[in-house]
Amino acid sequence: MKIGIIGDIHGNLCALTAVLEALDSRKVDEIACVGDVVGYGARPVECIALVRERVKVVVAGNHDWGAVGKVALDYFNAAARQALRWTAGQLSDDDRWWLSNLPLVHTCDEYEVAHASLYRPEEFKYILNPEEAAPNFSAQTAKVAFFGHTHWPSIFFDGEPVRHSIQKVVPLDLPGRVLANPGSVGQPRDSNPAAGFAVLDLARKRINFMRVEYDIKTAAGRIIEAGLPAFLAERLSLGY
Ligand code: ZN
Repeated sequence: MKIGIIGDIHGNLCALTAVLEALDSRKVDEIACVGDVVGYGARPVECIALVRERVKVVVAGNHDWGAVGKVALDYFNAAARQALRWTAGQLSDDDRWWLSNLPLVHTCDEYEVAHASLYRPEEFKYILNPEEAAPNFSAQTAKVAFFGHTHWPSIFFDGEPVRHSIQKVVPLDLPGRVLANPGSVGQPRDSNPAAGFAVLDLARKRINFMRVEYDIKTAAGRIIEAGLPAFLAERLSLGY
């Protein structure tokens, strides 16, 4: 069984379409999303529709809940706040219902998913280093867990001390638990503008981290067209 792991889509339909095509060509059996379907980008409604159609497991990101008033707007920086107000104005009642009812954590036998951390998921804490990853392992029950929020592809290995890595292939036939961030579909911040995602391959016991090029020019143009801050368009081609 192969599971596509995506997240931090942020209303970027061009990037989401490219990633779904890449997952189709790898013949994944199902797709899970670490949240932040909306926010920043200019196609939130279309991204919600496509995610609802194609993605089996979705958890709530801070932007998903920010757009429906479940996370206060003063949590966000000025550009994110402006984009969330605009996003809120695009949503239908059904979109709002769907975003509001996303769970914070999903757990099954094979893997767990949370947007920021399995530990106090409602606080949306950033996991950028081993010290920040350590509390997560106290809450992680499955061998593999996925998170997003930082927009950086990265892996943490449980142990004393917790170890950090950015390797492209992670073997899962070793002892210990693994916490992995697939990177961001719609707004990568690791200086690589290509859309990021991962594939959990249960038969081959490994996670593959991948990137796919997409039409950044169109995605950026839509942000400008919508009257959103120009910085949100410019950062797409910088991978920041
Ligand atoms: Zn995000």
